[in-house]
Amino acid sequence: MNTADILILGGGAAGFFTAINAAEANPGSRIIILERGKEVLTKVKVSGGGRCNVTHAEFDPKELTMHYPRGEKELLGPFHHFMTGDTIAWFAERGIALKTESDGRMFPESDSSQTIIDCFLSEADRLGISVLRNHSVKSIQKKSEAWLVVTTEGNFTAQKVVVATGSNTKMWKLLENLNHSIVAPVPSLFTFNIKDIRIDGLQGVATPAHISVLGEQHEIILESEGPLLITHWGMSGPAVLKLSAWGARLLAPMNYAFTIQVNWLAGLSFETTMEDLKSLKKSLNKKLVASHAQFELPKRLWQRLVETSGILEAHTWAEITGEQLTELARQLTLGTFEVNGKSTFKEEFVTAGGIDLKEVNFKTFESRLHEGLFFAGEVLNIDAITGGFNFQNAWTGGYIVARSL
Ligand SMILES: Cc1cc2nc3c(=O)[nH]c(=O)nc-3n(C[C@H](O)[C@H](O)[C@H](O)COP(=O)(O)OP(=O)(O)OC[C@H]3O[C@@H](n4cnc5c(N)ncnc54)[C@H](O)[C@@H]3O)c2cc1C
Repeated sequence: MNTADILILGGGAAGFFTAINAAEANPGSRIIILERGKEVLTKVKVSGGGRCNVTHAEFDPKELTMHYPRGEKELLGPFHHFMTGDTIAWFAERGIALKTESDGRMFPESDSSQTIIDCFLSEADRLGISVLRNHSVKSIQKKSEAWLVVTTEGNFTAQKVVVATGSNTKMWKLLENLNHSIVAPVPSLFTFNIKDIRIDGLQGVATPAHISVLGEQHEIILESEGPLLITHWGMSGPAVLKLSAWGARLLAPMNYAFTIQVNWLAGLSFETTMEDLKSLKKSLNKKLVASHAQFELPKRLWQRLVETSGILEAHTWAEITGEQLTELARQLTLGTFEVNGKSTFKEEFVTAGGIDLKEVNFKTFESRLHEGLFFAGEVLNIDAITGGFNFQNAWTGGYIVARSL
């Protein structure tokens, strides 16, 4: 039997952040990380395309919570104690400067996730934290006053246990055995598979757009706005990823087959566009419609939408009919596309689902059902849109657990 003061289950982002902060707050305590894999921090390694999008340059707690489709309400209090600015300072204190990209995402200046891994490993070493790889947790039981954790490599006991095992079905089953409720997992952060002549061959084209998911009666059931990227398989980019996160629960039972409406002129209505097109018809008169993209649209996309509206390459503005003009306005602002399936967004993906948030005290991240049992990271039913917010949840949870321990 191995005895520790604090057992941390899972050697990922949340597990390491908890362990390091706990060791600093409780010098001399014996802290053990139990990791099932032969490597630790594997998701950190591949995160952000290998660059690790550590956090996001959003410094208002309320605004920050709005990036979490699940966890928005619960994270407000915790963010008042530890959020993005604290993350930046935490890494800076350890010699790691973060830089901000134009969209707010923050990465280590080295542009390498290995910088973050090296920091965690050397901190764990400096603070005497035991990191036990190849120790898969098989059961968690409360034995009189202490917790007993059975792993493939032996038994461990401690007064305090932190579950930081990410999205792991087996661990959720073990927690169900402890009477915790698990919100069924579904994927979040994915791209839409669309086969449509209007975007065929246009991969790489990116433009701001407003996307709406339509219901059976063609009513809008979900919408988002932002850059849309056309890919080999369909559509991606922040506008699509946001929809995939906010719609994670809604789109799963539809089997990812649904209709979207794309307004390529985000912010402009059909009516305004119609007026604009009428003015263009007058002012551009003898000019070829297809040759000069309007509304700052990428040329290839403009040409495809013009073509779809029945306007030939040789048509001048003067020659197009009222019907064609109406169809062009429709294609620009109200075009519908059939989504059939999803693809993995390789830079970042998460699972929506996990421990029911009602069963967690967010002042301490401790279980409301069991004293001495804590949670941090993706094991909870918390997930965010892409941009560094998922790691911020791991850092915030880990930090608060460490303080509570
Ligand atoms: C490809 C990819 C890229 C990403 N990029 C970003 C990004 O750039 N920015 C961002 O904010 N988020 C990103 N994410 C999301 C982010 O990685 C997760 O939200 C974050 O890693 C969650 O941390 P965690 O510690 O809760 O879980 P994890 O990092 O998944 O760690 C859990 C650990 O627990 C271990 N474990 C599981 N079961 C057991 C068991 N029974 N016994 C012992 N150990 C166990 C696992 O092996 C793992 O090491 C990305 C995700 C993916 C998949």
